Amino acid sequence: MNPYRLVQRKRDGDELTPDEIAAFFRGYAGGDVADYQMAAFLMAVFFRGLSPAELSALVDVMLHSGAVIDLADLPGVKIDKHSTGGVGDKVSLVLAPLVASLGVIVPMMSGRGLGHSGGTVDKLESIPGFRTDLDARAYRAQLERIGCALIAQMAEVAPLDRRLYALRDVTATVEAIPLIASSIMSKKLAEGIDALVLDVKEGNGAFLPEPERADALARTMIEIGAHYGKRVVALVTAMDRPLGFSIGNALEVEEAVLALRGEGPADLRAVTLALAAEMLVLGGVATDAEDGRRRAAGALDDGRALAKMRAIVEAQGGNPALLDDPALLPQAPVRRVIEAERGGVVAGIDVRAVGRAAVELGAGRRRLDDRIDPAVGMHLTVKPGDRVEAGEPIATVFASSEDAAALAAGAVQRAIAVEVGAMSPLPLVSRRITAAGIERLAR
Ligand code: URA
Repeated sequence: MNPYRLVQRKRDGDELTPDEIAAFFRGYAGGDVADYQMAAFLMAVFFRGLSPAELSALVDVMLHSGAVIDLADLPGVKIDKHSTGGVGDKVSLVLAPLVASLGVIVPMMSGRGLGHSGGTVDKLESIPGFRTDLDARAYRAQLERIGCALIAQMAEVAPLDRRLYALRDVTATVEAIPLIASSIMSKKLAEGIDALVLDVKEGNGAFLPEPERADALARTMIEIGAHYGKRVVALVTAMDRPLGFSIGNALEVEEAVLALRGEGPADLRAVTLALAAEMLVLGGVATDAEDGRRRAAGALDDGRALAKMRAIVEAQGGNPALLDDPALLPQAPVRRVIEAERGGVVAGIDVRAVGRAAVELGAGRRRLDDRIDPAVGMHLTVKPGDRVEAGEPIATVFASSEDAAALAAGAVQRAIAVEVGAMSPLPLVSRRITAAGIERLAR
């Protein structure tokens, strides 16, 4: 295998054979292909794409780059959910305990922040004492006892994805359908699931903002799942505004706790219930999506979901008292309120700019070795379509210093466009995609 030659052929638009793809990626895993050669190859894939045969070979190498966990002997259906990445997307923190409280086993392995988007593991680690690094034995034992584990990708699961994910994050090669699809599906297929629900984001804060590309990504992941005998359902949800109000790790945990008490933001609740309904149908607990939504809403409102989260937090070493008193979460020393500079309607939110401002505050990483500040972030109190008066508060920034607060406040102020005249935001949950096709939903 000549890495230079394979990069060159991919760059020039040639289709590589499955053996060549396997050799190149195995070569990277084994140290025979350098980071810079892989970075060049990923950029070639960004522009040229991968054929179905190339993609299938890539998924197979990534999946088998580490352990494939077998949970077949654990009674019950195991179903996970994965999001393609968003800002303020704390759905997993509510959804996993909620669905587990209704009897479906949820083996949830999550990622850290990627680019402008947040990561569930970073959010969980803002809970004092919470451990996300369970090994395979502890993971299985917790699934057996509690029905849900919220953990980071284990070292032995899809290690090739972990290396590629980190490399893509710093080489502007995240936004490619075959790379996102292989990244998500290789680690999900390795964690021992029977079925998967995908939350595919569209809108300016998504990695693939255009609806057609969101649909193509969903269909690609569904096909990969089918190839491995897994049922996969995708919902396309809005990311032309952050989900909920809070962005930043501890702030998002606090909002998720509110949602688990049945008091969270309406959009977070709606997306969570829609995804929960799909998981409950796949798990055989609900007869159809409407039945699933009703059961899930009941478990949020009567405390079953919160009780399940309490059991998970206790089992993973976190302080469960924060579920009663979120002030126990890390708190930022500086708060700055942002006011609308003029009256009008919120015509749009540059969600990527908001996500990047959160990263700059320290809620995400600019370099691989950056440490996250769990307390920082922001709270946006307006959504597209809201009417605001000049001088009305539209956001609060939570920062570690006055300088950082001032920088973030400027970025957030610029990201929220207030104009005269109406506008229409994307539907919150617009499409349901399965192997059978695309169903339009109006919610
Ligand atoms: N989430 C992932 O796990 N991988 C990607 O590439 C993008 C989002």
